[in-house]
Amino acid sequence: MAKTKYVYMFAETDETMRNLAGGKGANLGQMTKLGMPIPQGFTVTTEACAFYYNNNHQFSDEIINQINIAMTNLEELTGKKFGDADNPLLVSVRSGARVSMPGMMDTILNLGLNNVVVAGLAEKTGNPRFAYDSYRRFIQMYSDVVMGLAKSRFEEIIDEMKKTRKIESDIDFTAEDFKEMINRFKEFYRKEMKVDFPDNPKEQLFGSINAVFRSWDNPRANYYRKLNNIPYEWGTAVNVQSMVYGNMGETSGTGVAFTRNPATGENKLYGEYLINAQGEDVVAGIRTPSPISELEKCMPDIYHQFADLAVNLENHFQDMQDIEFTIENNKLYLLQTRSGKRTAQAALQIAVEMFEEGKISKERALMLVQPQQLDTLLHPQFDSEALKKAEKIGEGLPASPGAATGQVVFDVQEALKYVEAGKKVILVRLETSPEDIEGMHVSEGFLTARGGMTSHAAVVARGMGKCCVSGCKTLELFEDEGYFKLNGKKYYLGDWISLDGSTGAIYGERIITVPAKISGNFEKFMNWCDEIRDLKIRTNADTSVDALQAKEFGAEGIGLCRTEHMFFDSNRITAMREMIVADTKEKRVRALNKLLPMQRDDFEKIFEAMGNFPVTVRYLDPPLHEFLPTDPEEIKKLSKDLDVTIEQLNSKISELHEFNPMLGHRGCRLSISYPELAEMQTQAVIEAWINVKKRNPKYTAEPEIMIPLVGDEKELKFIKAIIIKKADELLKANNMSVDYKIGTMIEIPRATLRAKEIADEADFFSFGTNDLTQMTFGFSRDDAGSFLNDYYENRIYEFDPFAKLDQEGVGSLVELACELGRKGKPDLKLGICGEHGGEPSSIEFFHKVGLDYVSCSPYRVPIARLAAAQAAIKHKR
Ligand code: PEP
Ligand code: MG
Repeated sequence: MAKTKYVYMFAETDETMRNLAGGKGANLGQMTKLGMPIPQGFTVTTEACAFYYNNNHQFSDEIINQINIAMTNLEELTGKKFGDADNPLLVSVRSGARVSMPGMMDTILNLGLNNVVVAGLAEKTGNPRFAYDSYRRFIQMYSDVVMGLAKSRFEEIIDEMKKTRKIESDIDFTAEDFKEMINRFKEFYRKEMKVDFPDNPKEQLFGSINAVFRSWDNPRANYYRKLNNIPYEWGTAVNVQSMVYGNMGETSGTGVAFTRNPATGENKLYGEYLINAQGEDVVAGIRTPSPISELEKCMPDIYHQFADLAVNLENHFQDMQDIEFTIENNKLYLLQTRSGKRTAQAALQIAVEMFEEGKISKERALMLVQPQQLDTLLHPQFDSEALKKAEKIGEGLPASPGAATGQVVFDVQEALKYVEAGKKVILVRLETSPEDIEGMHVSEGFLTARGGMTSHAAVVARGMGKCCVSGCKTLELFEDEGYFKLNGKKYYLGDWISLDGSTGAIYGERIITVPAKISGNFEKFMNWCDEIRDLKIRTNADTSVDALQAKEFGAEGIGLCRTEHMFFDSNRITAMREMIVADTKEKRVRALNKLLPMQRDDFEKIFEAMGNFPVTVRYLDPPLHEFLPTDPEEIKKLSKDLDVTIEQLNSKISELHEFNPMLGHRGCRLSISYPELAEMQTQAVIEAWINVKKRNPKYTAEPEIMIPLVGDEKELKFIKAIIIKKADELLKANNMSVDYKIGTMIEIPRATLRAKEIADEADFFSFGTNDLTQMTFGFSRDDAGSFLNDYYENRIYEFDPFAKLDQEGVGSLVELACELGRKGKPDLKLGICGEHGGEPSSIEFFHKVGLDYVSCSPYRVPIARLAAAQAAIKHKR
């Protein structure tokens, strides 16, 4: 059997080997091929990392052997010797995952030094100060990264020495000072570790490689991966690279530069450097670096060489690059290059400009912006300076992005009162319920102690484009006393707080916000997306205001209009409650007749807002008890309004109580029990269409009616008959005709298995992946947040399946239903309207399985347009 190759010299890798060699290793290989000045080295692959994790944090003899051979090769390449005093080879050991995770993992520099080698280095370079400085840096890094001794303890020793020597900067230490520092570091090490600091360079090397692999699993890296959807199983590669020294005096230095400005996208070299310093000094902020433009003045040749290489790298990798460099005695080396992180504004500017400069194709330009990034362009943002100064008091789930600042309120009434008085509020609740909707509408954002990413608060927030931080476990709410407690402090009604819905951060103060700017590039870029994508993008909208907003963002129709949200308004809820508590059909119909004109009016407004774009109206879905009050005062008031006794009302409420309402009397089951409900909703839809058509004869959209929670074709058949009867009757009476569509949501696992038969009855399917996820996993969408963390911590799941489609499980059901449905009806229209419709990796999946459209909340429409375009670029249909 061929041996696995775990170690590659840089000359053996190239940019196509990112998965195996990591981004840094692959790029260093490519730069070597391009003939750039790279300190040579080798890469230990991600497969070695996988081996390490699968084998109890141990390497195999084979891996050790391959590393030893690579080290010998490197000695030959550099003409230096590892551990040799006369001509020492020193190396750096650095992480390099498939995608860059800046600052998340560990690095060790100047490896290969001990008392003998350092003396040799001092002599060979004629620069003892440099040699001893390098050694003390190595001891610090190794102790921290490999042995876990806190950096701060070493800093304390340095500070003490500065004090006794009355110096301010590291630059003023002499070689003798560093020698003493080394002794003190080692003494400290011995005291803490009960052994001597390792002198053997090979021991240092394997210890460091081990530590870098281990750092893949540190909390920082785990958090970053979760935030950026990077799978744990990818692992990291390790790069061992021969050292070049920026700390050899005034003709040496080190720096970092971006080929374009990462904040604005401006096409101008942007970066900074330090003379006589090593890499970590630039990041650590001990000395203030100079802007890269200064380098042009003090080392013009080096500057121009660097600027040319930077342009070459950008052209080669077809993206803005973030480059690390070192100057050693007037000679330039590149240490690494990677695609630079950038703000959303910069991402758009760079993509558009690079295309217009003729450097990249339109497809490539579309791949240079991450869909999720667009989000920050759509919501108000904190002023970045003000945010830096603010103090974080807690954290919840980043449920709906945006920046909100306002005064604390605890209920809808307080919210309305404050807003009427011209104040901005943040609604703080244990959890929100549909009853809070009015209060939510007027708030800047919501903060809840419970609930996950698809909790009511989160879904509603995203729908409204409001900021929401949900599920803040450390928040204790004392509603009766009128305050909440967080981070040891009490916050009362009217106190100012701020929420960052993109990170989940909570601040106990007012932070000013600035409105989102949408530059001209944004529109241009979005139009390119539309040229390329196959998927249509619709929106989930329940009001004409949301519909207009979504249209503004580029929605091509409504994929889900949840009709129940219309009934929660204070002037409608009573009629709704009257319908629910009615004990005869007559009473129910009477109440429904009160709701009819309101619903018809809403539909007319929505149809008109969407113009000729299609609108899918979904019939009533939630369990009815959600509409009933729980507060005794409200029950008392309702009993008066409805003219029933409190006892009668309470007995109706307890009759409607269900142990498992999500699996209870909801969805199409309601219209099966009460056909008059489907009748009324049909009348509202069809009459709204008739009225719009009468006002505007050029109106071409056809109403689409959608039945929720169907699990059997007979359910759909039953309700369809009611709809057709009512619709045809109304159209005939008005002497009009329209090819209205009747379709169903596919959100019960059984429906996916019976899709062929259901398709016989349906004009379209729309996947309700919220319920489908809930029922496939058997996880309550409202409660799963409370235990999913344990799943992440134990690596059972890496992401929230309610936010990002579980392609293996739920996705398989979607795929099956598409196949079966189209077998039943080849021209069946297929869409998705669950929350996954706005999530990029899920959108890629929906593109691949051949859906016609995705539907998402208005503020995610631009994200979906870009994600759909990227999916079309990656997978041609
Ligand atoms: C769904 O279940 O995915 C869906 C869109 O319906 P709702 O969220 O209203 O249950
Ligand atoms: Mg549903």
